[in-house]
Amino acid sequence: MSGPVNPIFYKCFVKADAFTASDACIGCGQCAKRCPMNNVTLKDGKPVWGKNCTHCMACICYCPKEAIEYGKKSVGQPRYHFEAL
Ligand code: SF4
Ligand code: SF4
Repeated sequence: MSGPVNPIFYKCFVKADAFTASDACIGCGQCAKRCPMNNVTLKDGKPVWGKNCTHCMACICYCPKEAIEYGKKSVGQPRYHFEAL
């Protein structure tokens, strides 16, 4: 049902631009490993997000140091783990 609007919706609203990693990052690579879109790479030990994000939130939720934020929206919010993963 959402097929016709998906191209515009994704292009306008589904982006990884707001992701950042704080100094708490230890460079473990979990964010890159968990991303199903291969959209996260480590550069100089810190994650860098590309343009192929589907907003699954695996990178932010599985960071063991809670070092990732999505702008200000995620600050103070709980991280969700899907144990089947
Ligand atoms: S999962 Fe967290 S600690 Fe590990 S590299 Fe990514 S941001 Fe850094
Ligand atoms: S939200 Fe999901 S798809 Fe987007 S960068 Fe993070 S893990 Fe990858």
